[in-house]
Amino acid sequence: MLDEIRIEELCVFAHHGVYASETAEGQHFYINAVLYLDTEQAGQRDDLSCAVDYAAVCGCLTDVMTEKNYQLIEAAAQAAAYAVLRKFPLVQSVDIEVRKPEAPIPAEFGSVSVKLRRGWHTAVIALGSNLGDRRGYLMDAAAQLREDAFFRSVQLSDLIETAPYGVTEQPDFLNGVLLCETLHAPHALLDRLQALEQQAHRTRELHWGPRTLDLDLIFYDDAVISDSRLTVPHPDMQNRRFVLAPLAQIAPYYRHPLLGMTAAELLARLEQA
Ligand code: ATP
Ligand code: CA
Ligand code: CA
Repeated sequence: MLDEIRIEELCVFAHHGVYASETAEGQHFYINAVLYLDTEQAGQRDDLSCAVDYAAVCGCLTDVMTEKNYQLIEAAAQAAAYAVLRKFPLVQSVDIEVRKPEAPIPAEFGSVSVKLRRGWHTAVIALGSNLGDRRGYLMDAAAQLREDAFFRSVQLSDLIETAPYGVTEQPDFLNGVLLCETLHAPHALLDRLQALEQQAHRTRELHWGPRTLDLDLIFYDDAVISDSRLTVPHPDMQNRRFVLAPLAQIAPYYRHPLLGMTAAELLARLEQA
C-alpha cells in the first residue's frame, strides 16, 4: 500500500478545447492530483531532498497545461500524468483529474471532467537473435529503451548462446532478458517492442524461424493477460532455459503470478526435469 499526496483544485487558465472560441479565449481548468509513493524516508528524516516538493509538482502541472493547447482534456491529463512521473521519480503512480466547469455545453451543468491513472510498471522482456550481428541487435534494442522517456531502470542480463528451440534447422541464438520500468500499458509496450523488431529488419515468415530480433513480453507487474494479441505471462517461459537462466540472474525473486514460483525456483525445476 502506497502513501498519497493530494493536490486539490489547482486552477490554471488555458486554451484547451475543440472549438475555435476555446482556443482563442481560454478558460479555467481545475486539476486534482493524487501522487502515490512511499513517504517513509521523508517521514523519518524530515528532509525535503527525500520528499516530493508539492510546489514543484504544481509548477509542473501548470507548465504542461499552458505550454501546449490540447483538443481533449484526456490528452492534457495524460500529458500531465507522464510529466509528473518523469520529473518526480519517487512517484510510482498518479491520478490526474482535469475539470472544465466553463466547457461550452448548451445545458446547465456543474463541471465536466476526466480522471485517469498512470504509473511506472515493471516489465520483463526476453530478447533473442540468430541472424546477422546478433549481439549488435540485442544491445541496440536495450540502448534504444534506455534512451526512451517511457522507460527507466533498464537492466540487461548477460547474453547466452542457445541452440534453436522449436525449428532446430537454423543458426544458434543469442538470448538475454531485460528488466525495466515502463510507463506504457501492456499493448502499447507490445507495439513498442514490435516497432523495435521492425527496425531491426525482422521479417515474419516462419513461426519460430530465424530472426534478427525477437522481443517477447514475459511479465508485466503481476498481470495476467490473454487476448488475441498478447498472452502474459508468456505461456511457454517456464519451459525455456534461455529465458529462465538470464531472468534468474537479474530478477531471481520475480514471482510468476500463475505458477506461484520465483524465477530461481522455475529454473531449478526445469534443470531437474
Ligand atoms: P513464441 O512466442 O512462442 O516465442 P515467437 O516469438 O516466434 O513465438 P512471434 O512470431 O514473434 O512468435 O509472435 C507472434 C505473435 O505473438 C505476435 O504478433 C504477438 O501479437 C503475439 N504475442 C502474444 N503474447 C505475446 C507476448 N507475451 N510477447 C510477444 N508477443 C506476444
Ligand atoms: Ca519468442
Ligand atoms: Ca515474439
